[in-house]
Amino acid sequence: MALIVQKYGGSSVADAEKIKNVARRIAKAKDEGNHVVVVVSAMGHTTNNLIKLAYQINEQPGDRELDLLLSTGEIVSSTLLAMALETLGYKAVSLTGAQAGITTDTVHSQARILKIDPERIRKELDKGNIVIVAGFQGISKGEEEDITTLGRGGSDTTAVALAASLGAEICQIYTDVEGVYTADPHLVPHARKLKDIGYEEMLELASYGARVMHNRAVELGELYNVPILVASSFIDSPGTIICKEASMEVKNKARGIAYDTNVSKVTVVGVPDHPGIAAAIFEPLARANISVDTIVQNASINNITDLTFTVARNDLIKAMSIVEPVVKSVEGKQCVTDSTLAKVSIVGTGMQNTPGYAARMFRTLHEQGINIQLITTSEIRITCIISEARVKDAVQALHQDFELEKET
Ligand code: ADP
Ligand code: ASP
Ligand code: MG
Repeated sequence: MALIVQKYGGSSVADAEKIKNVARRIAKAKDEGNHVVVVVSAMGHTTNNLIKLAYQINEQPGDRELDLLLSTGEIVSSTLLAMALETLGYKAVSLTGAQAGITTDTVHSQARILKIDPERIRKELDKGNIVIVAGFQGISKGEEEDITTLGRGGSDTTAVALAASLGAEICQIYTDVEGVYTADPHLVPHARKLKDIGYEEMLELASYGARVMHNRAVELGELYNVPILVASSFIDSPGTIICKEASMEVKNKARGIAYDTNVSKVTVVGVPDHPGIAAAIFEPLARANISVDTIVQNASINNITDLTFTVARNDLIKAMSIVEPVVKSVEGKQCVTDSTLAKVSIVGTGMQNTPGYAARMFRTLHEQGINIQLITTSEIRITCIISEARVKDAVQALHQDFELEKET
């Protein structure tokens, strides 16, 4: 009997009818003779609403309380889904992340899975149950055992991690689009659905804003070689396979475009250009679990320089509270921030060792009159930081100029 892991996202379980629809799909997988483990997200906008509520109550809610609060969203949907399956005549049991044996580190709101003990899940499967696991959460094994969450979009990571630990045949991610497209289909109507995509390319797209997959889910998929299917939870359509050997579709092309509007820029103006300054700024940021992207240091004049970097917008206040005292202590001039920016990235292994992609991207943006503020690259990605107001124009123009709607 094959074991499959299915994951249903928030929009797929947004109301009672949709939960019943998902239950029918799960029942079908069970009828086909599979052991089925299901991971479910919170209903619709539940997570956002819980965050709003917390901030109405307390301007700086504690991260322990916030995590426990947010974990309830997934508990609600998992119980309702188990009830829907029982109504259809199937045996089902819902489990929280902790009950499912998911242990994490102690980093609230961005916890990483350390270990999964799948014993309880196996026991329930052996009893003939369909197992519904609340996504996005685990329990920390620090001094105290506390409920943690895995970061926004983290139910994907729960699903892939469970698939890896249970040795599942496949991890199926069901969502509100039919697969992974060359760009967000809600922004680019001509975006093309990909038959398959390699882990490496998917990881870059996910890390740079294509929220159809949580980046850490892709990382785990690659690490444990779990094939991942991304498909619609509403219609039967083939979807996209994320796997090791993606088709050689086109070797000399960009594969997709991602954008991310969760970007803030910090410029530290007029700091002395001597060894240790960058460490003094970035070490405390790392200790506070603030992830810093795109770092640029200007050439110094009279041994004074400027340093610019980006952080996620929701990390900006925390980042400034760390950086400002450091800048003061080294007698830097000031810190300037900008939260009206976005990242646009083109991704493709075909770009590796092939000149011309960056120049073409800059030309396209120039023709749209879009100013590039910062640039970063990896071997298979080029990212430009631009004004948030121009993101849609940038993505659409790049999609057209790189001919991504065409199959070859
Ligand atoms: P779920 O709630 O099912 O986890 P998400 O909202 O997290 O769904 O992810 C699905 C959304 O990802 C889509 O509705 C789409 O707008 C967005 N998206 C961004 N980039 C892409 C892409 N390249 N391909 C498909 N969807 C994308
Ligand atoms: N409910 C969580 C979120 O909205 C996790 C998820 O949906 O994957 O981010
Ligand atoms: Mg998601």
